[in-house]
Amino acid sequence: MRQNSKGMTLANVRVVLVRTTHPGNVGATARAMKTMGLGALTLIAPEQFPSKLATDMAAGADDVLAQARVCATLEDAIADCVCVIGTSARMRRIAWPMLTPKQCAKHLLAEAAGGTVALMFGQERTGLTNAELERCQYVVEIPANPAYPSLNLASAVQIMAYELYTASLAGGAHAAPPTAEHGPASAEDMERLFEHLESVLIEIGFLDPANPRLLMRRLVRLFNRAQLDVNDYNILRGILTAVQESRGPKS
Ligand code: SAH
Repeated sequence: MRQNSKGMTLANVRVVLVRTTHPGNVGATARAMKTMGLGALTLIAPEQFPSKLATDMAAGADDVLAQARVCATLEDAIADCVCVIGTSARMRRIAWPMLTPKQCAKHLLAEAAGGTVALMFGQERTGLTNAELERCQYVVEIPANPAYPSLNLASAVQIMAYELYTASLAGGAHAAPPTAEHGPASAEDMERLFEHLESVLIEIGFLDPANPRLLMRRLVRLFNRAQLDVNDYNILRGILTAVQESRGPKS
């Protein structure tokens, strides 16, 4: 299939719906995506799928549903992604690095030039949990009535998909990611780094597993903000391994 560079970059954008409870929202999401040139839909543990209601709501976008990937866990859904952005209407205890919908579209398209990127949407009732938001480099809030900011899930997808589409028309898709020399670290790499960091911090007595407080969450945010490339990732893993080796074999 022939595609121009804009189409190819939009093709690298994956919409991820987390534990959707209402199948109608899955169908409406597929339709929202297809109208804006998006096709890659991943569903994490949907309550009902496939579903007739989803297919009805998708209308002419039932091909997006037919090709949707269903994953059991968030890790599976984003392992290969070079950038993960979450969406949320909720205020958090720790301020997450935030983007506007337009900034998000520009950033995602630039990153999509280097690999698959994910835009994540939470469950209808609860939204994205803090653990899910921790996997995100940024969080997007769609500006809305402060007294009632919670959009319908598929409406939120439609707004973000529209921003991506118009940004791709404006040519934002051509920018290479800032660390193109080595390629960005994937979500799976980052997960491995955080596990390694946490175990080293426990070994050296800096992190008390009985009283972890928000230390790991803050460190996750710090490293996500830095947008590591593969070389940065290898250096950090090497440092952590050297720390462990310098302490001698575990008894
Ligand atoms: N009570 C939940 C609302 C969930 S709405 C909450 O506070 O997060 C379902 C999903 O739609 C959200 O998880 C988010 O992905 C998206 N969404 C709804 N309103 C949004 C907004 N104003 N900005 C960004 N995303 C929004």
